[in-house]
Amino acid sequence: MLIVKKFGGTSVADKERIMNVARRCIKDYQAGNDVVVVLSAMGKQTDVLIDMAKDINPNPSKRELDMLLTTGEQTSVALMAMAMSMLGVPAVSLNAFQVAMHTTSVYGNARLKRIDTERIRNELDLKKIVIVTGFQGVNKYDDLTTLGRGGSDTTAVALAAALHADKCEIYTDVDGVYTADPRIVKKARKMKEITYDEMLDLATLGAGVLHNRSVEMAKKYNVELVVRSSLNESEGTVVKEETKVERMLVSGVAADKNVTRISLVGLKDKPGIAFRVFDILAKANINVDMILQSIGRSGSKDISFTIPRDACNDALKALEDNMERLGNPEISHNDKVAKVSIVGAGMMSNPGVAARMFECFYNSNININMISTSEIRVTVLIDEKETEKAMNAVHEAFGLED
Ligand code: ADP
Ligand code: ASP
Ligand code: MG
Repeated sequence: MLIVKKFGGTSVADKERIMNVARRCIKDYQAGNDVVVVLSAMGKQTDVLIDMAKDINPNPSKRELDMLLTTGEQTSVALMAMAMSMLGVPAVSLNAFQVAMHTTSVYGNARLKRIDTERIRNELDLKKIVIVTGFQGVNKYDDLTTLGRGGSDTTAVALAAALHADKCEIYTDVDGVYTADPRIVKKARKMKEITYDEMLDLATLGAGVLHNRSVEMAKKYNVELVVRSSLNESEGTVVKEETKVERMLVSGVAADKNVTRISLVGLKDKPGIAFRVFDILAKANINVDMILQSIGRSGSKDISFTIPRDACNDALKALEDNMERLGNPEISHNDKVAKVSIVGAGMMSNPGVAARMFECFYNSNININMISTSEIRVTVLIDEKETEKAMNAVHEAFGLED
């Protein structure tokens, strides 16, 4: 069997944890399997590196930032190879360049395009455990890129797909996917299984337990994932196409604080204005999420939208550079907001789910700024301070607790 095992930052945070992961991987190796290990940077090392960069230059070049951040993963894979060697097992660490993990050229948010498997296969044939850096790639200029925060999950799934692995295991610091972040909602319940679609929505809406693009890729290449703890032997959660358990009305709650709301007040109420606003943002490479447009009155209208918080400066600059084209609207922004979402395939055939969520906010005296929905989710924008209260209230209102 070929097994891809991915371990997150907490799982390799110090010497003891590294040795623990090494032993876990060696167990599979000694049982006769080919083992490919994907690692994140140790502990909070990626944050440490970002702080170091910002301390020197508050607005560092994205290329140089990627050059710096990729060292985090390179450190952990090299140490892991040394740990395995200490335990008497041959292992080799490889970075994205050595494997050749080709990505698009966008620094900081690159997408994997193609993975060469020859080097990994050769090393496996030599009976080595292969340890690969997560989170990073190489672009067409031979520069190192990163896949976005949390991107090591995507490296693991992409490798599992490229190598036609029999198993892809994502080891983290919780023992599976819960109905809500167990650190915020104490009564959250661990799920045995979850569908790709529900997991994709939860991950996209802020459930950081899996990088959303890893779920997208798992669905595309039909890679079954297991999310489990590196600290115990608990069974974990299986992420796959169809689950056996009955579809819940609501399967989970997620929150995302990486949000800023921007409002443009006093735009001209005529065709083409929305296009101009979002074209300017698209050209600046900014992902827009929720959008709200008011009904026009006396020739003017307002548009509000949300974007990732770290894109705020870029977005404001792009809009300000185009003020005349937009007819000089008033621009304001609020970065003390958060999104809280409920997700569940069962919603499709059950009216009243959104109403029940809004009632719950009303009962908890939480004001709703914006709303957006799809067939299987409802998202509201609220004051960031209310996030934890809102999550717990909604979790309880839909009876998700243990
Ligand atoms: P890793 O470093 O292993 O990739 P992450 O911090 O990226 O770990 O992801 C694990 C964290 O995700 C958990 O510690 C937990 O707080 C958070 N989390 C958010 N939503 C969920 C959820 N629905 N189920 C489980 N964990 C969640
Ligand atoms: N080290 C990277 C991060 O902290 C990637 C990852 O952990 O998945 O975002
Ligand atoms: Mg992660």
